Amino acid sequence: MILAKVERQHQVSPLTLEDLKINESAVPLIQKLKAAGLIVIATTNQPGLSRGYQSRRELDRMHERIRKAFALDDIMVCPHDETDRCPCRKPKPGLLVESGFKWKLDLDRSFVISDKWQDAEAARIVGSTSLLLKSPWVGNVHRDFVMPDLETIVDKIISLQKARRAEAPA
Ligand SMILES: [Zn+2]
Repeated sequence: MILAKVERQHQVSPLTLEDLKINESAVPLIQKLKAAGLIVIATTNQPGLSRGYQSRRELDRMHERIRKAFALDDIMVCPHDETDRCPCRKPKPGLLVESGFKWKLDLDRSFVISDKWQDAEAARIVGSTSLLLKSPWVGNVHRDFVMPDLETIVDKIISLQKARRAEAPA
């Protein structure tokens, strides 16, 4: 979601640092999640790496810029094409599983934010709560919430998180 721009109803990922636009309005919202004690990780399919039109170096530069701008804890990348049949290309849950392992996350107490059905499907498989931003790409797969904007999503996550903490045994 952070990475995408829209061209003729399709989302197009920027290929170079020059093309990258940081959505500044999302920065304080991500900070709110961090302040609530959450670890914030972006996951992204980057088939251009496998197909050869995305340079790894340029992608790393963009990700470094994004990671700093949003104070993300991590960015997890699937570099594969669908023909690679990897376990990490979303809607497969490999990047979530890997994130959970790397950051010792309890995936069934984690949240997935996206504007695409592929992320909701990956979340469903690992038992995470999915919160989709209303968009043309939400599809018909199971998702826990569809909401009009990121601010509403962030507030929802924080209230769900508080409720869970309150019910957790001391
Ligand atoms: Zn992959």
